[in-house]
Amino acid sequence: MPVAKLRPISSHVAAVDLHAQFQVAVFLVRHEHGLLAIDSGFPGWAYAVLTAAQSLPEPNQITHVVLTHAHSDHIGGAGILARETGAEVLCSETERPYIEDGRSLAKAACSFGAKLSLTLNHWTQQRKVPPVRITGHLAPGDEIGGLSVVDLPGHTPGQIALVHGRDRLVLCADALFNVRGELGYDPTPGVTADLVAAEASMRRLADIGLDDVAPSHGPALLGDARERIAAFLERHGSA
Ligand SMILES: [Zn+2]
Repeated sequence: MPVAKLRPISSHVAAVDLHAQFQVAVFLVRHEHGLLAIDSGFPGWAYAVLTAAQSLPEPNQITHVVLTHAHSDHIGGAGILARETGAEVLCSETERPYIEDGRSLAKAACSFGAKLSLTLNHWTQQRKVPPVRITGHLAPGDEIGGLSVVDLPGHTPGQIALVHGRDRLVLCADALFNVRGELGYDPTPGVTADLVAAEASMRRLADIGLDDVAPSHGPALLGDARERIAAFLERHGSA
């Protein structure tokens, strides 16, 4: 069982920080009837997420698990969370085959290096994910539990982010990483399928125009996200 720590981000959103060899956050978002879980951690982490949810004030039932993208550190606990809570499990239509059917993300890779890393990742990580049944799709502009859906492809072909309108916060999944004190597209070299699309998505993330952005890996950027993303793109962007 990983160590889980709750980290409040905004009035309706807390991160469950799950640590093993690699830090991953699952976000719990409060809505009228309970909680949305945004992602589910690596396989075997579902009970830590459930315990964290149960430690929050009622209603604390997880009603929906929203999967931002198909990587095993985001979808690994979804099957168990759904079984234990009866939650709906949602993702984008593009991402569904990589989650539900176990299709390799190497098929979406835009470079030889990414194809190689994603093939390796498929055989060493993705295939260890317990089965996940998707019960519905989310498309750009859809609203759920106070969140609206934005598509930010590149890291994977159908990655989505979620914008909390009232809290003025973007849960940007892996469209941006904030690890080792630096922003970036890809902390694990090569697992981003399409770096050109990932850069375009980071520009779109800045264009959402909010100053609070919480990535799934590393601390949230609170109050200065636009500035920091612009500075990153200035240094590393190709356009
Ligand atoms: Zn990822």
